[in-house]
Order: sequence, then C-alpha cells, then structure tokens
Amino acid sequence: MKITLKDGSVKEYASPMSIIDIAKDLSEGLARVACAGKVDGEIKDLRTVLEGDHQLEIVTASDPEGLRVIRHTASHVMAQAVKNLYPEAKVTIGPAIDEGFYYDFDSQSFSREDLDAIEAEMKKIIKEGHELTRFTLPRDEAVKYMQERNEPYKVELIQDLPEGSEISFYDQGGFVDLCAGPHLMSTKNIKAYKLISSSMAYWRGDSNKARLTRIYGTAFNKKDELEAYLKHLEDIKLRDHNRLGREMKLFTTVDVIGQGLPLLTPKGTRMIIKMQRWIEDLEDKEWGYVRTRTPLMAKSDLYKISGHWDHYLDGMFLLGDPEDPDCMALRPMTCPFQYYVYMNEQHSYRDLPVRMSETSTLFRNEDSGEMHGLTRVRQFTITEGHLVVRPDQMVEEVKRCLALAKHVLTVLGVEGEVTYHLSKCDPADFEKPESERKYIDTLEKWYQVEQHLRDILNEVGVDFTEDVGEAAFYGPKIDINAKNVYGKEDTMITIQWDEMIAEKFGMYYIDENGDKVRPFIIHRTSMGCYERTLAWLIEFYAGKFPTWLCPEQVRVLPISEKYADYAEKVRKALAAEDVDVTVDNRSEKIGFKIREARMDRLPYMLVVGADEEEKGTVSVRSRFEGDEGAKPLSDFVAQIVEEIRSKTIREEKAADPK
Ligand SMILES: [Zn+2]
Ligand SMILES: [Zn+2]
Repeated sequence: MKITLKDGSVKEYASPMSIIDIAKDLSEGLARVACAGKVDGEIKDLRTVLEGDHQLEIVTASDPEGLRVIRHTASHVMAQAVKNLYPEAKVTIGPAIDEGFYYDFDSQSFSREDLDAIEAEMKKIIKEGHELTRFTLPRDEAVKYMQERNEPYKVELIQDLPEGSEISFYDQGGFVDLCAGPHLMSTKNIKAYKLISSSMAYWRGDSNKARLTRIYGTAFNKKDELEAYLKHLEDIKLRDHNRLGREMKLFTTVDVIGQGLPLLTPKGTRMIIKMQRWIEDLEDKEWGYVRTRTPLMAKSDLYKISGHWDHYLDGMFLLGDPEDPDCMALRPMTCPFQYYVYMNEQHSYRDLPVRMSETSTLFRNEDSGEMHGLTRVRQFTITEGHLVVRPDQMVEEVKRCLALAKHVLTVLGVEGEVTYHLSKCDPADFEKPESERKYIDTLEKWYQVEQHLRDILNEVGVDFTEDVGEAAFYGPKIDINAKNVYGKEDTMITIQWDEMIAEKFGMYYIDENGDKVRPFIIHRTSMGCYERTLAWLIEFYAGKFPTWLCPEQVRVLPISEKYADYAEKVRKALAAEDVDVTVDNRSEKIGFKIREARMDRLPYMLVVGADEEEKGTVSVRSRFEGDEGAKPLSDFVAQIVEEIRSKTIREEKAADPK
C-alpha cells in the first residue's frame, strides 16, 4: 500500500499497518508526540489499521485536533480518578470542548478540596502510564457489559445506538469507558492539566432528568501554555460582573428574596438612572417617541389574544388559579399594553408612524439553574417600544431604529464589541404541509422582507451575519449581540418586523380614501435591558466607567480638617452643576485617601490644602492621567461639566494602583 505524507513524499508498505506503527517507522520522536492521524482529511485513532492507498498526516499536540485528543483522554483519566475515589459515582459523558473538557457524574457534588484530591489521583494514573487499549463488542453484549459494571447511563447510551452496531470501548488499567475515540496511546502523554470547576448539570441537558455533577478541566501540551491559560481565567474572574459588581457595591442578591431578583444598591441605581434619563430624553426629544406607562399585570384574556397564554404560560408568573377567569399574570412583554394605548384614539394615515416607548419592567419565570448576576434574572427593566407604521414607512422606520441603536452603542463605547445578525426564516419549513409550519405567509414574502432588512443593514453600514431559522414566527428581525467575559453570547438589542399582530388586536388607521387599514408594527429596543447593559459595562470597563456614568464622579480630599470648609465650597460648586461629588473628611493621611479613591475606580480626586484654598484652585488627580496639576476651581468645574455633557470617554493612561 502507498501512504502519501503531508510533505508529498510516498511510503510503501507490503502489508496493512496501524497509524502508530507508520509514525514509528517515520521517526520514534514523531510517534512519541503523535495524538491521532488525519487519513484522507479525517481524524482517526492511532490504533486504526490502514489498508490500501491513503493520504496521511500525523497529528500532534501543536494541532488543534491533537489537543482535543489529549483533552478527551484527560477526561477519561479524570473519570477513572473519580471512580477510584468515589466508587459509588456513576459515569455519563465526558467530551473535549473548546477550552478543555468536562465529565458529568451522577454523584455527590465536589468542593475545591475534592477537585484537588481528584487531580492528585489523576497524577498517579498518569504516572503509572497505562496503555489505552481499544476493543469492540456487539451491541447486546455491550449492554450486558455495562449492566454488569452497574453503569446505567452507559447502558442507556448504548441502547440508543442502532441495533447490530459494533460498540467500541477503551480500557486504561482496568477503567473501561464506552467511547468512539480517538485517544492517546498512553496516559503518560498527558503533560499539563488542571481541574477548573464543578457545577450542576442535567442528564442530556434536560431539567426533567437526573441532576448530575459536572467537572470542568483543561489540558495543554506544555506547562507554560496551561499557566498562561490559567492566568487568563483569573483576569476574566476579576472582570466578571457577578463578582466585580458586588465588590463595587452596585448590586446584591438575597436568598430570602429569591434567585434572579437582584437588588440594585444606591450606586448601581444611580448608574441605571443616568442611563434611563439619557435614553428617555434621547428617544423623546430627538427621535420622535412618545412615552407610555402601562400596568405590570393583566387578566388572562389579554394573554389569550396575544398568544402568550397558549405558548408561554410556563414562562409567566401567575397570580391565582389559571382556571379562574379572573386570574392575573405579571407581564413578560409590553406589546399588547401599548397596542391598547394606540387604540385609545382613532388614527389617520397622517398620524403615523406612532412611536411608543416605555421604561418597562418585565417578569419571566426562567429556570432557577439559569440565574446569573444581572444577566439571567426573573425581573428586569427594558427600554421597550412599539412603532405603529404604515407599510410604506416601514423601511425608513426600521432604518431609524437601527441607527438609534447604533448611536446608543457608540455613546456607551461598546459599538465595536457587538455583532449584528439578520435572523431569517428556515426555507425548508415551507416544504412542510401548512398545518405543521412554524412561519406565517409565503417564502416569497419572507425573502422580500429579509431583503429589506439586508438593505437597511448595508445602508446603515454595519457588518452582519445571516442566521437561518432564527426569526420569530411572524417575521424576520435584526439582533445585536454581545459576549460576556466567558464568551457567552447574549442578545442586547432586537428590532423585529411584524405584519401580523395588528389583525389579532384589531388595530387600524384610516387611509386617504377613508378605509380602515391594518398598520405594520416594529418591536424594538434602543439599549435593551438596563440590568444586562450594566453587567456588560462592568465587564467591558472592568469597573472603570466613563465619567458621565460613574455613581461618584469626584471625591474632594482635604489634606487635614483645617481645610474642611474649602472642601465643602468645592463640593457645593460641583454639586450645583449636577456633578456626583463627595468629600472624604476622615482624619486619614492624604496618601491613604488617594489610594482608596483609586481603588474605588473614581474618575477624579481633588486634593485641597493651604495653597489651593489661598489661590482658589484644586489639585486634580485622575484615573486617566494620574497627576493633572493644580487648576482654578472654575476651570475644573467647566471641564468636567463638558466631559459629562458630551459623554466623552477619556483614555486611561495612568497605571493601576497596586
Ligand atoms: Zn471518550
Ligand atoms: Zn413587542
């Protein structure tokens, strides 16, 4: 047989050979670092025996595919270590993932100390250098084999495989796992690994099935690569809003109040109020919105019209028995409430578009396992709006919604962080019989609207991806997404095209001929949800917010009590211009006060003593430049007022305090 290698050279062998033997024939050194073989472009286990002519590339840990093999083998070693220490634990699945691997066990939960003990046991297994050997069994025997070993999850997995299939297993020193491979030849080839964390998971990701304990770990080719990765994880943790936001006293949670119900403390509230005042003024004064204020709850009748009662009942908080006609529910969205505001008076074609916005608190009964800080919550406040639009105005209005969202993101300094998406229907859906379809209307109609949105995205000048099957059933939409520090993507802003809902609620306007016509609706947000945006800003800025957003913008630091009066005069001058300013009047040393203010990530500290009092100046220290020198008080007031008014984001040039 002829084997063509990556460099184009050809090796000939008289009889079939395994990939690892071919690697050994090429060089012992290569065989030692081999993780898998790429045969005609497909990753194969090193034990695979090749027959006939093939292209072959030996994959090592420096290839991403090779690293996956190391990580997957490390997950088996971790499972073996867990079984050694906790024989009653049941094994389930343990794949390699992008940054490492995990394994789910039906077992007790594991503390950090437990993870350390498991890690130590892994070290032993790796040192012992067990060979991994592969064997196969017919399906029925494979079921029996795992039944005898009392591993019910593995039995279930095998039973899901087609009847008559050969099931492959890997054995390492007596620990046998059901697995398709590929794997390293020996446990001793795992050089650098670490168990990261443990969390709760569900069997098959289904919350109605067994609760499992997941252990996340990672493995790298070299120790220094592992260390660099662990350092990166530490940095991420420091930015995690769920930690930093609490540390900065922006929000908290309380068990007795409930999961997913964060309390915004005075500082966090101050930040949200600044955003809210800005957004409301922006929308109403510059973008032609009118503001509504509608109830937080409604009778079931309303949700029956909107369709939520049939499709979203599990996600709503009910007040009373759902069978009772007077049963109320907390609102999961604002749409129908604003429709009734529109219908409160008759509209002519000349009145449209009607752009309604509301700073709207919503309630969604999400799974408690999903709760996280300010991003996965059960109650949140959103800048939600509905535009009632004539069909001929639709393109222009959607364009304005997108332009507004882009403007908001730009002012917040995060426009470069988001991705834009055109969420489309799935054309395959239209091949189904009409009763089974998810999407309304015809495919031609969808293509038409999708083309409008595509043109709008191009015209506003943003890069975007097109996501098939991500649309709502009633129309395509534009989604603007951002990633959190852990790389998880969330939708921050959405703009949806809806031609259907007006019919359901009986909304109309009077056209030029005096006829009643159904308007189109745009569902949209301009900034999205306040809590989630705050979380995002905490992580993006690592708590060093632009001055205008800071809950405390200036702290006056008198050198001693003697200058308390002058400090108060400085405070008053700033407060009179709506600057958030405090005075640190404690009898601490000035160096201590400065250090603490810097630790609090304050934009400005004003040091005042004899010299400043006499000349009417302040000595400015900023987070941006460090020492900015003495300035006349009136100059500093004018400078910061302008910085806040223009929402300038100053560059950070000064080093962080140690
Ligand atoms: Zn496996
Ligand atoms: Zn809506």
